[in-house]
Amino acid sequence: HAKRSGRGRVVVYTHQMEEAAKRVTRIEQALRRAVAAGEVEPHFQPIVDLRTRDTIGFEALARWTDQDLGVVPPNVFIPIAEERGIIGALSQLALRKATLAARDWPEHLFLSFNLSPSQLVDQNTGLHIQSILAETGFDPHRLEIEITETGMMTDPISAEKIVDDLRAVGIRISLDDFGTGQSSLGRLRDFHFDKLKIDRAFVASILEDRPSQHIIRAILAMCDGLGMEVVAEGIEEEAQASRLIQFGCGGGQGYLFGRPVDAAATLEYLRNAGPRALAI
Ligand code: C2E
Ligand code: MG
Ligand code: MG
Ligand code: MG
Repeated sequence: HAKRSGRGRVVVYTHQMEEAAKRVTRIEQALRRAVAAGEVEPHFQPIVDLRTRDTIGFEALARWTDQDLGVVPPNVFIPIAEERGIIGALSQLALRKATLAARDWPEHLFLSFNLSPSQLVDQNTGLHIQSILAETGFDPHRLEIEITETGMMTDPISAEKIVDDLRAVGIRISLDDFGTGQSSLGRLRDFHFDKLKIDRAFVASILEDRPSQHIIRAILAMCDGLGMEVVAEGIEEEAQASRLIQFGCGGGQGYLFGRPVDAAATLEYLRNAGPRALAI
């Protein structure tokens, strides 16, 4: 009996793997079409000054809806784009659209844009970013590039060169999802990050979990010493925001302040900023 269920498991497993591989290929083909047709859209989520609640910038987050597959989340299509060599084209499309949209925002607001690990292995990435900025006329000083710990660790020498080139033209660099990847504090010394984003896993447990509180406070002390700005990600509740302010965290992002929305809704959000009304 054990043998039979064992064999059964193998069969099911193989079948599932086959189905999963088929689905990945289907997504890959649909994504290639969508990118060529310019159908990937950036949405924008506000990043705020935690104390004043002023919006200081927006993070661009790619969105894709396929006719047959429906909404495919970035956590699904970004890894497939990376694996199947579509990420470069997808990213250039998203950055072009994002910078075009961000030109309509008040000038003091920055645009934050995510780069995937494989893009930091490709020395053309810096040039591609700069040529898109030249094409859309977006000021590099208003752009922030978010890279993850995996992004800086895959090929540190290549990543560091790209980061240096981007910083040389005034683009700021932000370390995304901090605390969840293969952290190396030594890399924090070698790289020159302007900003660090505390992963939402720590924020999610900040109210009840002592270890998370200690880790957040240690990150804030370190960033203070290194002269790095900090943004806490995934803030959903007022109590989390007040605890972060109490710990001295400057920036915040999360559903509490706003969900990612398309370019038109972002302009609407800026118009409705009320007492913090922005001149647009
Ligand atoms: P990320 O860069 O860490 O982006 C933050 C993610 O957290 C976004 O998920 C955002 O919608 C979500 N989020 C924001 N506030 C909250 C909150 O209060 N609660 C919760 N539970 N989630 C919140 P999203 O849009 O699904 O993107 C997932 C990931 O996909 C991003 O994580 C980023 O790594 C990647 N990604 C998205 N767009 C791009 C892109 O254009 N290029 C690249 N390379 N990666 C992208
Ligand atoms: Mg990000
Ligand atoms: Mg993040
Ligand atoms: Mg993330």
